[in-house]
Amino acid sequence: MERVATLERANADLEARLRESEIRYRYANELSNQITWIASPTGEALDFSPLWTTLTGMSLEESVGTGWGAAMYPEDREQAFAIWRHALATGERLEADYRLRLSNGELRWFHIRAAPRLSADGSVLCWYGTIEDTHDWKVAEDALKASEAMIRNVLESTTDYVFVVDRDWRVTFMNTRWADFVRQERNGKLGDVLWDLFPEDRGTKLETNYHQALATGRPVRFEAYVARGDIWLDINACPMLDGLAVFFRDVTDTKRAQDDIARLAHQDALTGLANRTVLNKELEEAFLQRTERSTGLLMLDLDLFKEVNDTLGHAVGDELLRAVAGRLKGELGEGDVFARLGGDEFAVIHRLDADESSVEALAERLMAGFTDCFFIDGIAIKLAASIGTALSCPTHESANDLLKAADIALYRAKEGGRGAISAFDGGMADRLHARQTMKVDLEVALVLGELRLVYQPLLDISSGRIAGAEALLRWRHPSKGEISPAEFIPLAEDTGLIVEIGDWVLRQACIQAASWPSDCTIAVNLSPVQIRDETLPERVQYALSYAGIDPSRLELEITESVLLNDSERNLAMLHALRKIGVRIALDDFGTGYSSLSYLRHFPFDKLKLDRCFVGDIGASPQTEAIIRAAGEMGRALSMTTTAEGVETQEQFDWLCLNGWTQSQGWLTGRPMEAAAIKDWIVGRDAVHREKVMDRRPAIAVA
Ligand code: C2E
Ligand code: MG
Ligand code: MG
Repeated sequence: MERVATLERANADLEARLRESEIRYRYANELSNQITWIASPTGEALDFSPLWTTLTGMSLEESVGTGWGAAMYPEDREQAFAIWRHALATGERLEADYRLRLSNGELRWFHIRAAPRLSADGSVLCWYGTIEDTHDWKVAEDALKASEAMIRNVLESTTDYVFVVDRDWRVTFMNTRWADFVRQERNGKLGDVLWDLFPEDRGTKLETNYHQALATGRPVRFEAYVARGDIWLDINACPMLDGLAVFFRDVTDTKRAQDDIARLAHQDALTGLANRTVLNKELEEAFLQRTERSTGLLMLDLDLFKEVNDTLGHAVGDELLRAVAGRLKGELGEGDVFARLGGDEFAVIHRLDADESSVEALAERLMAGFTDCFFIDGIAIKLAASIGTALSCPTHESANDLLKAADIALYRAKEGGRGAISAFDGGMADRLHARQTMKVDLEVALVLGELRLVYQPLLDISSGRIAGAEALLRWRHPSKGEISPAEFIPLAEDTGLIVEIGDWVLRQACIQAASWPSDCTIAVNLSPVQIRDETLPERVQYALSYAGIDPSRLELEITESVLLNDSERNLAMLHALRKIGVRIALDDFGTGYSSLSYLRHFPFDKLKLDRCFVGDIGASPQTEAIIRAAGEMGRALSMTTTAEGVETQEQFDWLCLNGWTQSQGWLTGRPMEAAAIKDWIVGRDAVHREKVMDRRPAIAVA
């Protein structure tokens, strides 16, 4: 009995504990955010916790068996059933994610877990499972995955190499581009320490900048040259919370292109020398240091380079400029800056320490560089240069002052003839200024009637008659008085005014000659600038017809320089003039180049020997030999031979004896004013006629 009572008590106790456990389970179930469920060994749902009905709105009756599938999002159904079937077949636990349609229409993600309850023999008694709402977490995870995938995509599709290291320099990420490189070059992989992969980068700009980015928390962007691959990298080191992301790309081509552009911007393309931009920059610098250190500037201009270009072509001209640059470079010192300023103009900036004479010495050396011929394409070319030098001065107001000074000196050097060196001095600037003023004055001289012509007679040696006269231009400046044509004609040529002045001279001279005896010629000097003017033949014709004189009475004097420059065109011009019927004389023969070759190309009517030869008659047998030869040549080519500057009877007699046909000079007559020359010619002719008459009987007797 007692045993029965004990058993009943135990039973009651057990029931109470069971109830208690059930209540606890129910409470736990109701409080839990997980749905619990039970299914049969073959997979039919037997029970769901109330949360199922709360969420899906499906009653337990609707849900048991396979009814629960109706709450499942159709797209997920296939996969979920497959997983379930697999678990039932194998008796393995299952985990899956799928979406359920809730009673409010919302679609949410749930995580499903199921495990079998097994009997002692291992067969499945039933399945216990949970369904947990993981929607928010799943959506966040998907978003994270998507953004990670996007970042990875971006990092893969960039042309940059990308890697990430942690604070211990361990590589935690590499994009494929970088991974391929590291694998091939260094057998590297994720987790390797950067400095083990690239030990040679330690202690370089790369390491310093990586550290800086980490230390400051700010990205550091820089360019680095990597000698091992002879490449330039553009590197961006971006600090992150737990390390550093490094982006870099090969910018070698861009860098080289930039270098090329920079070089072109500072280099003369033809010679490779510095260009004007560099020269100006260096002059600016020298100007800033002018109190501590003086600077010499040498300007060099090639003489007659244009002729080389015109006659031998631009290709040879270019080659010649390169050769000049190459040869002169050898004469320069370490700190000298050698520039080509364009055309045939070069400049050297020469920094001086103490010895100012080194500028002169350098100029001499540069000049000596022209002693030997240049050989281009087998052609020997003899060049000369003019050099102007100037020194910086503490009183200079800008870098331009030094440039101007050297320019003025160069101008002087050129004026002084070819192959000259000229150093700047203060007086030069004054003279240049005076010249500029004179140019301006000359422009109005013609209008104001300050120009006039004088006439110098030419004597026919054999007949003793006046053959004609040469018109010579005179300028009486209102304040400076008489200015020599040798001084103002180059100015008029510079400004182009010579064309207008020359026109006036032609007309004036022809008008004068119209009043002279009809067998008297009038000689007019033509400047090379006038010859270049295509309308010259018309201008000449106009002057002749305006004055009404026969073309054969007009003699145009040109100098040798006309045939040196642009000879083809100028020769054509001479022929055109000749066609009008005027005579062409070669003036100042023997000066300048005296290349006899052009005498072959144009049949001059007259050769006028320069007066510097005539002055030597009786003093220099060599000169006499030359004059004799020139006379012979003139005769052989049927030219009138005129000797200029005949001042003495001895000179005249010698010329007469040696067969010269005409004499011009003070002995016969100085240049005369227009009003005087006609009477002089007529008077002179009358006297001459008398003399001849006087001599006739004697001749007859003889
Ligand atoms: P040119 O044509 O050779 O003229 C001869 C120069 O010699 C003239 O100098 C004349 O005055 C000078 N002369 C003549 N006989 C003697 C002499 O016995 N002894 C000395 N010591 N000198 C003598 P000018 O008039 O000073 O002319 C100098 C140059 O200026 C001329 O040389 C000519 O090339 C140029 N010129 C003069 N007038 C004109 C002109 O109307 N147009 C152009 N384009 N040039 C001109
Ligand atoms: Mg003359
Ligand atoms: Mg002359």
